[in-house]
Amino acid sequence: MAPIKDIDESALKEEARKKLTDYMSEHHQRKTPERYAVLDAVYSFDGLFDADQLYQRLEGQFRVSRASIYTTLDLLARIGLVVRNQMPSKVYYERNIPGQVHFYKACTECGKLERFSNDSMGRLLKEMSVKRFHPSMYSLTVSGLCSKCLSNINRRKKRLDKKKSSKPKADAVAKSGVKEQGKTPIKEKINK
Ligand SMILES: [Zn+2]
Repeated sequence: MAPIKDIDESALKEEARKKLTDYMSEHHQRKTPERYAVLDAVYSFDGLFDADQLYQRLEGQFRVSRASIYTTLDLLARIGLVVRNQMPSKVYYERNIPGQVHFYKACTECGKLERFSNDSMGRLLKEMSVKRFHPSMYSLTVSGLCSKCLSNINRRKKRLDKKKSSKPKADAVAKSGVKEQGKTPIKEKINK
């Protein structure tokens, strides 16, 4: 993944922790250490991650159940600290960093997800005004086929075309077989 420039990681994490604390105080929720552990893990990802990857990152450091990971992700999304991204293969999350533009290419065949950058497109997106909406961050996914899957598909297609071009002979045999089978009952009728 392309590194994010000009970001003070610790300040970002501190700010997110403060937002979480404020929200929980306001809503009279228990400030459990699990929630802060999940938040810290979330903010350690530079880019998209799924719930399994988050679980793996927390494993060994903190005992958090998968259920409470999902609950905390929902909470963080409600506060605006995390953004949910529905990709062709599954749901991914990413920390919400105002003003950031992320581009992803998602392969619909193998599910591979990769970040790429496009400065001119990023500038265009930021300049775009969205009616009756105040954008914070931008995420754009380009779905399609990765080069590996595309070459696999092309190879498969070539093999299939080769088979097809050598098939007419086999087709003729099959057709004559059908004809003979059709004839048999008539012959039997005549004999009777
Ligand atoms: Zn692929």
